[in-house]
Amino acid sequence: MNWLKDFVKPKINALIIRKETPSDLWSKCLCGQLLYNKDLKENLYVCSYCDRHLHMNFEARFKFIFDDQKFKIIKIDIENNDPLKFKDLKKYTDRLKESQKKTNQKDAAFVATGNIGGTLSCVFILDFSFMGGSMGQYVGESFKIGCLKAIELNCPFIAISSSGGARMQEGLVSLMQLPKTVAAINLLNDNKIPYISLLTNPTTGGVSASFAMLGDIIIAEKGSMIGFAGKRVIEETIKEKMPENFQTAEYLLDHGMIDIVVHRKELQETLVRVLSHLKK
Ligand SMILES: [Zn+2]
Repeated sequence: MNWLKDFVKPKINALIIRKETPSDLWSKCLCGQLLYNKDLKENLYVCSYCDRHLHMNFEARFKFIFDDQKFKIIKIDIENNDPLKFKDLKKYTDRLKESQKKTNQKDAAFVATGNIGGTLSCVFILDFSFMGGSMGQYVGESFKIGCLKAIELNCPFIAISSSGGARMQEGLVSLMQLPKTVAAINLLNDNKIPYISLLTNPTTGGVSASFAMLGDIIIAEKGSMIGFAGKRVIEETIKEKMPENFQTAEYLLDHGMIDIVVHRKELQETLVRVLSHLKK
């Protein structure tokens, strides 16, 4: 037995590893800068070097959006199903368990109610950190539950999206969520409930092809990537080069696809202003 290698070194390693790892303290922006997580949180997850709007998880979003950080999460009483018993490199059920462990979330969708600038509102969030914010049955049902809650409370409905699209592991069932969310929006319309859709980076695929682009008012965070298929896929299909800023919030605003592009620091006051107009 090598006493130094087998006994002393592991003890030293254990002492060092117990401390916080750099990944708990720092995040790296795509511009290459390292950002201290505490500062990043205070800056609403906006990079202080390049102004890129980084991901904000559902909890930070709810706290940010509701008055005095007060909100009530609506319990989503359904299970995540594996309708196809799907397996690629791993079983879908195992992927779900892994994501649940990693994020401490049941799935990618959340619904909460609270006041925004004094207006009671029902807010649905699709969180990219859980399986890329993909929409399966759980997410579609959560959206519907959110709409029904807004109708029950007779208050505006706001959906905040960040998603890679439909959850392919649920196949056709995930595609069925597209008409389901559209039908839920029709219920909002029938009941004269205003619906604001907030698009954050990224909002793509089946989510942009359904509820995300159907808001009475569509707001996007500055610099967000919004589209259906990827730029490269489109270029290869139509054999044309797309503009540099194609599929950005700013490009969509210039082409009349969305109504407002907002910096995250002005998001709260923009929502309050839009809600007060809608109330009238
Ligand atoms: Zn940056």
